[in-house]
Amino acid sequence: MLQLCTKHNKQTNDYMEVVQEKIHAKNGSHRAKLWMPRQVLITPAARAEAWGAAMFERVKALGVPALELKHNRLTGLRGEDERETYRNAKSTMAIVTAPPSALKLQPIPPSADFQFHLAEGCPAHCQYCYLAGSLQGPPVIRAFANLPQILSNLPHYATPGKVTSFEASCYTDPLGIEHLTGSLAETIRFFGEQDQMNLRFVTKFDQVDSLLPLPHNGHTRARISLNTALIASRLEGGTATVEARLAALRKLALPQALGGGGYKVGVVLAPIMLVPDWEEQYMHLLDRLGQALDFDCDLTFELISHRFTPGSKALLQEWYPNTSIDFNESSRAMKFNKFGGKKFVYNTAAMGMLRSFFYSELKSRFPDAPILYWT
Ligand code: SF4
Repeated sequence: MLQLCTKHNKQTNDYMEVVQEKIHAKNGSHRAKLWMPRQVLITPAARAEAWGAAMFERVKALGVPALELKHNRLTGLRGEDERETYRNAKSTMAIVTAPPSALKLQPIPPSADFQFHLAEGCPAHCQYCYLAGSLQGPPVIRAFANLPQILSNLPHYATPGKVTSFEASCYTDPLGIEHLTGSLAETIRFFGEQDQMNLRFVTKFDQVDSLLPLPHNGHTRARISLNTALIASRLEGGTATVEARLAALRKLALPQALGGGGYKVGVVLAPIMLVPDWEEQYMHLLDRLGQALDFDCDLTFELISHRFTPGSKALLQEWYPNTSIDFNESSRAMKFNKFGGKKFVYNTAAMGMLRSFFYSELKSRFPDAPILYWT
């Protein structure tokens, strides 16, 4: 369980963050800063790809120090310990070609039929990060240069006679790096031209303006990941504030004729945490969501409770030694994934309580919005 801090200065900071969010929400002035890497590297193989070369020119035009590597391997990012490696890697974007395995798509239930990747790694600093331990090597942000090949491979996985869904955010936050890559917009355009193929992505960022005029043809569901303002401000470093994400969601859902994107939208409530005052905090979030989406739109919900594995816990505690997340296994239930790996989830009683709270609150506030799954 997330422990709320008892130290006065931290309480003051939290309070000020909440107050500042309210002020920003009122005057609408707050925008998250765009992430800029300390350096961008490009491999020779990526440089040979037209999309990779265009990305490289784009980051250079933005004034980011950019270096052409002599080899296709990324080296020199390891520090003296995991924290230094983390710092080096998380401030670096590498333009690389996706490995051949990226063209063999894997199913990703319950989110979508298949996952595919525009990039691997993410510029945010969530202290519960789902990616911790699931990607090899230092957590450098790798943007894929062979995007045309990745996209043209997707129709091979479309099932005739049914709509096939493709998830693009399993290993990255594609909007967080969109100003550097342009890959998400290109992917939305591509799906806009496909029959029976739908794109899904999710983000904790808010720079959606470049996505609004795209010809998506209703084939993309744009989802925003939300949590309480306290959890977001304390545990989701480098992301947009909850208020900024709500404003972005509103823009995505508004019809294009009204200056919005006219997208089908979604809310991913994740990770749902049993923090003190959780009911009050989540009710406030759902109130604000209702105010942000005060018009008819195609909306879905996905609900994901907090979980961790022994591997992710060890890595996250090295990356964030002062984290307030409760990683105490004894208060959790243990489950096994299909490969036999352990994960720790809330116990049955806690899960039942959280699940019924969210189902009941969402059904009463958003009766037409399906809840796609609870996990
Ligand atoms: S946005 Fe997602 S991938 Fe990025 S740091 Fe947060 S949890 Fe990890």
